[in-house]
Parts: sequence; C-alpha cells; structure tokens
Amino acid sequence: MKFVDEFRDGGLARALAGKIERAVEPGRRYRFMEFCGGHTHAISRYGVTELLPESVTMVHGPGCPVCVLPIGRIDNALALALEQGVTVCTYADTMRVPASGRTSLMKARAAGADIRMIYSAADALRIARENPAKDVVFFAIGFETTTPPTALAILEAERESLANFSVFCNHLLTPAAISSILESPQVRGIGTVPLDGFVGPAHVSCVIGSAPYEYFAAEYAKPVVIAGFEPLDVMQAVLMLVKQVNEGRSEVENEFVRAVTREGNAKAKALVAEVFTLRRSFEWRGLGEVPYSALRIKPRYGRFDAEQRYGIVYRSVADNKACECGAILRGAKSPRDCKLFGTVCTPENPMGSCMVSSEGACAAWYTYGRFRDREAA
Ligand code: SF4
Repeated sequence: MKFVDEFRDGGLARALAGKIERAVEPGRRYRFMEFCGGHTHAISRYGVTELLPESVTMVHGPGCPVCVLPIGRIDNALALALEQGVTVCTYADTMRVPASGRTSLMKARAAGADIRMIYSAADALRIARENPAKDVVFFAIGFETTTPPTALAILEAERESLANFSVFCNHLLTPAAISSILESPQVRGIGTVPLDGFVGPAHVSCVIGSAPYEYFAAEYAKPVVIAGFEPLDVMQAVLMLVKQVNEGRSEVENEFVRAVTREGNAKAKALVAEVFTLRRSFEWRGLGEVPYSALRIKPRYGRFDAEQRYGIVYRSVADNKACECGAILRGAKSPRDCKLFGTVCTPENPMGSCMVSSEGACAAWYTYGRFRDREAA
C-alpha cells in the first residue's frame, strides 16, 4: 500500500476484523494496551473497538506527552514567565494544561505574560535570535520523537553563541514508562488491569527502533507489536498480538515496517546522546516517580539549561481530586469513570491534562463519542 487512504479502507478493515474474530480462542479474554495517544486517537476516530470481538479490550496508555506532564512542571514554566520575566515558548497543547490554582500558560498569556505558541524547536531559536534583549526559554516536552529537534536547537544555539536562549527540558523515555506500568501494583498486582500485550509506539520507534522493547518483552513475558497510526495498522497489530498470546510467545514484532527498523535512526540517536543524559528520576502524572525515565541537558551544554540558569526547583503538586487522569494514564480507569467527563470537563474547559491534547484519552472519547460500556470493562 502506498497512500494513506488505503490504510483506512473499510473493506480491508472488515476483512481484518474477520481474521481477528477467527483467531481469538473461545472463552479467552485479550487486553492490550495501546501506549501512544496517536493509537488512542485512531481507535476512537475510526471506531476500531467496534470492529473487534467482545473478547478483545483496548486499554489506553500514558503515551501522550502533554497528559503525563505533572502540574509542578507547568508551574515551573509559569514562574519563569511571571516571576523571572522571560519569554517562554512552547507547543500549543502545553499552553492549555491546567496548572496550580486553575491557571494555565494560556491564561497567564492573556494576563500579559510573554508566552508564545510555537510549532517547533527551531521557532524558539528564531524568536531568541530576533529578540536579543529578551531571555527566551523553550519549554520542551515530548517523547523520543521530539527530542532530536531540541538537541539540534541546543547545538545550533552553541554554534551561534546565542546567549539569550535556553531549554527547560522535560523530554521523556517510553520504555521506562512501559516497565513502570508493568511493575505498578495497580496494574500488575492482583490483576486490577491485567495486560496481555502492548501496541508499541509508532513515531517514537522510528527514532529508537524496536530493539529497546526486547528487554521487557522477555523480562515481563508480554508481547509487543509496534504499529503505525492508521486504523489498519492498529487492527493488524491486534491480530499479531492475538496470535502471540495464543501461541504463548512474548516477542517484539514490527507491523510498522514501512518506517521502523530494529536499530532506529542512528543520526537522531547520536544527536540525543551528544546533548542529553539520563535523569535519575522524573515524576509522571499518573505514574509517579519513574526511575531513569527522562532526560536532562549534559553539563557540557549547561549554559543552555534553563533549570541551571534560573535555579528551577521542582515541587510535586497533587492533581484535582475529582480528576481521574492518573488512573486513566495507568490504564486502571477509562474516561467514563470520571464524574466530570463531558459535563464540567470538556475540551473547551479541560479540568485535567487528558482532556487537553487530541491524543489524550478523555479528549479522544469526547471528540468521537466513544462511550461504550465495553471500553470501560
Ligand atoms: S474527564 Fe477531565 S477531569 Fe475527568 S479524568 Fe478526564 S481530564 Fe480529568
């Protein structure tokens, strides 16, 4: 197949659904977590769940970088703009995530703070170049997909000796989060959310390759199928996972062969290795502190590290008590379990991070009206 429409073909989807129906074993249940928000979005948008047999349940995972950013990190970025008077640049969704005291970067901007919406790390660099009298901080978030452009921006800033540019680094690592989910008592423990396998990330895997998932496929005996973000990709991945479960295999398989290799993108990985190093620990919304799950800027590039430059101190802040984002991000609950869903909390007025990004489970459910009982089972 060559064109994107072909990966959304209804006839092929029904044929795949038939194969899955024939592959599932009578009396057996299959629960697969799609790690990425991109998959959650595709499943909701194209009604993939409705095509799957009753015995197959898709569980939403934490793979939406906006959703897992804890409130304390947003508070840090707000303080940079409001207390230190710097120009904060970040992606659009990040601006709408609720911070402490029902504020947000968007509300702070409306009140006069210099907070700018950008499309790429290169935009932040340009803003720094064009405003030499201002201190510009790129509030960088995202998984392995967005990390290489941030590394490039830092290297470029060094090459240009751009003294008014720095990065507040909040880049995250996917494999550590999947390990955390499997070790979480609520997920693994006496089977609150038993998982039989994972639909592995698409874009992230283009960068890191499929090899990093091999450890926990073997260690935790859970199959992983890396899949693209189109509906047929997801359905093919489900079929491959069902077969692995039936055959008692726990392997890493790659459905997204048109973009992902075992080794990944060597140039992108080298850039990241040049600029970043592992953090000992990082708090994720929903998962708590996850060891070695995020990156920080290496001391060699310390002058571009906003945490050093502005003495940023991270403080953990509890989520809104009524918001179930934490449990949703662990796969322990679904959006319909939240009393605020679709009433108090909507994409126009998000109370939690999962309603902000289109990749968030709550936003996907709300946008495409997927409220079926089976998804919450
Ligand atoms: S519906 Fe809103 S408040 Fe409820 S879990 Fe989702 S984001 Fe949080």
